Formats: sequence, C-alpha cells, structure tokens
Amino acid sequence: MRKVAFYTLGCKLNFSETSTIARMFEKRGYQKVEFTEQPDIFVINTCSVTENADKKCKKIVREAKAISPDSYIIIIGCYAQLKPKEISEIKGVDAVLGAAEKFQLLDILDGFIKSNTPKVYASDIKEANTFHSGYSMNDRTRTFLKVQDGCNYNCTFCTIPLARGKSRSDTIENVLVNAREIAATEVKEVVLTGVNLGDYGIIDGKRQYRFFDLVKELDKVEGIDRIRISSIEPNLLTNEIIDFVARSQRFVPHFHIPLQSGSDKLLKNMRRRYERSLYAERVEKIKSVMPDCCIGVDVIVGFPGESEEEFMDTYRFLNELDVSYLHVFTYSERANTPAVDMDEVVPLKVRHERSKMLRTLSHKKRRAFYEQHLGAAKTVLFEHAEQDGMMHGFTENYIKVTAKYDPVLTNELKRIELVAINEEGTVDIKEAEPEYVSHV
Ligand code: SF4
Repeated sequence: MRKVAFYTLGCKLNFSETSTIARMFEKRGYQKVEFTEQPDIFVINTCSVTENADKKCKKIVREAKAISPDSYIIIIGCYAQLKPKEISEIKGVDAVLGAAEKFQLLDILDGFIKSNTPKVYASDIKEANTFHSGYSMNDRTRTFLKVQDGCNYNCTFCTIPLARGKSRSDTIENVLVNAREIAATEVKEVVLTGVNLGDYGIIDGKRQYRFFDLVKELDKVEGIDRIRISSIEPNLLTNEIIDFVARSQRFVPHFHIPLQSGSDKLLKNMRRRYERSLYAERVEKIKSVMPDCCIGVDVIVGFPGESEEEFMDTYRFLNELDVSYLHVFTYSERANTPAVDMDEVVPLKVRHERSKMLRTLSHKKRRAFYEQHLGAAKTVLFEHAEQDGMMHGFTENYIKVTAKYDPVLTNELKRIELVAINEEGTVDIKEAEPEYVSHV
C-alpha cells in the first residue's frame, strides 16, 4: 500500500480541503501517514497570505526530501494557483496543481510516475467555478465544515479572489448531508468555513439562498452540540442572524468580524463595503441581545495612506469598542492587487510598531473579557492535547480554560465555573455548583 502524507499552511478552509483530499486518497487504497513516516507521496497545501510563502514552501519540500528522497511531491493551494511556475522550479517538486485542478489530482497525476520535468496544471482562475464540499477530520473535538468558497468582493489588498475565484457555495441539502455525517461521529463542534461565509448561497453564478437560510437549517441537525460561525463580514451580519444565534441552543455566542481599519477613508481605499459606524452598530446590537458574546476583530495596520492620525483613530475606536480580542495583520504588498500601486506607503518599521500597539491592546481586551466572566458558570469543550500535565478547552463564548489533565474529560462538554486568570493568560476553573431547580 502506498503511503501519503499531507502538510497544510494557512486557513481553516485549507485544513478542511486537505482533509477531504486525504479521504479521497484513502478511498483509492492509499495509507495516510504522518509527515515523518517515510511517505511515498507528499501533498503540500499552500497559502498566499502566509508571510514568505515561497521560503516556507521550499523548506517543507526540503524536509520532505530529507525524509523520503524518492518521494513524489505535489504542491496545491492558493500559492500554487498564484505562482505555479515559480513553485515548479523548486528543487524536488514533481507537480503543481491550481484551484480548478486540486480535487482531481488523483486522476490527473495517474499513478504518480516521476518525470524529468515537473508537471504544472494551473488553469486561469476563471475556470475554478465548481464547488467542492468537505470537512476536516483531524481531531475528535471540532471540524471545519466548508460551505462556501471564493469571493466577489475584490478588496484592494487581497489576493484571495485571484487564488480561489468567484463566490460559490454548497447546496443546503449537501451541507446537511455532511453535517449529519459529522453528527454520527464523536465530533462535538462544527465551525462553518468559507472565504466569505456571509455571502453563502451563490450556486452556478446565481443567488439561491442566503446565509441565514443555512443557519436555520443547520440548527435543526440533531447530534451536533455546538456550531460556530467562523468569520463574517459586518455588512452581511444581519439582525436576523444575530437574534437567531441569541436564541439558538447550538449556535454559540461568538462572532469574528473583520474590521480592517477604523478610518472611513482607509475603508474606502480598501474597498470594504461598510463604514465604521456600521461596525460599531453591529457590535452594539450583538451585545444588546448577547451580553456574554465573544467578538473577535481582524485589523490591518500600515495600509498605504494610514497616517499617524488615522492609525490613532483606529486605535481609539477599537479601545472603546466592546470587543474581546483582535487579530492584527501587518500590511504587506501582494503582487497584482490595486493596493500595491497606492501612494503614501507606510515604512515597515512604523507598520511593526503599530502592530505591536494593537497586539498589546488585544491582550488587554481579552483579559478584560475574561475578567467580566470570572465567577460565571459556563460549558467547556475539553480538547485532547496534554501539556505538562494540563489540558485546555474553550467555553461556548471562546474563553480558553486550563484544567489538570484527565483523559476522561477529553472531548467532553462539562459545566464549570470560571475562577481566575492564570499566568498563562487562560482561566482556571472549578466544578460548577449543580443548578438550583425550583419545584415550587
Ligand atoms: S471580503 Fe475582501 S478580504 Fe475577504 S476574501 Fe473577499 S476580497 Fe479578500
């Protein structure tokens, strides 16, 4: 039996796709093994957003070759779509497949026979118009369920539409088939995954559903304890979604909402589809119906034209906003995006200083959010990993907790009380008092 190993860089979507491709290999009789177990074939799923994607890719190929010198190495993913020729020139690479080809790799690379020149199959991104569904199965705790791919938004800093193509989605029927399959496993949490999740519903170029339709249907699937909406654009996060999540027993109170900048001028130059007042209003709405809700924010620092004043405006805006943590991205130029040609480039040193300031603010925000919940009873889903005799888990509203390792707790949901923030910055817990039930 030939052995195949996988390496994934990047986002949840890549993880869900690698997992799906791995299951395709297994169905054809290949054995999935760890990277270090002398595989015959390596599949490396790349990301275009990762800093130094080229260097990382080269390093992984080198490591693969050191483990199995005669192995067959295939590169797929966003970076493979954007730079197929460059990647094919990396020593040791046997094949490069673009966005439209990656799910056909078993047929395209029939038998994985090595040749002198690497094979490159990367058609124009316009060809990537088919939706391939899937979900990750890397651990028992949670799965990334892919429901949408591609994006029609064309933000000026972003290469994703060039690497993944137009917005397209799975049908509700098919998402439900996958969800029921997941419900039959031990997995307790489903994270809905897409490039522009809130834009869910375009099939064959036409809008067939809205994201809210999917939310309502998924809420009815028995056997899934938790559903998390990973990331949703503020202009697509409607009141009906927020109100529904507030009432749902399955959708958890956690939203990750990209802001990118707190300056309306920059938002316009980034070609984002909202102003900061809408963002503030969304946060206010969420908090009014779910005061416990965790809200994460993506923000970019150092975008062209971000003056000191504009940056401080973003800083103050975030400081006052009732959000729980930030994901800070330092702007870096990407080929073939409109932002590359913009004036008023922010020096790298300034970008890094601003990034540091916002990371510090993020720590402060997270700590404040955790502090608000000390003494509260929550439900934790414990994960499998053990570190120095301890284990971690997350509450429904995404508070990371630490407990003494107990194998019985792995992948279990347990009612606990949040006690104190520890040195690691996570929360220590104790068993929650049984809930008082009045029989009067
Ligand atoms: S919404 Fe903007 S940032 Fe997000 S994937 Fe689409 S183009 Fe990129």
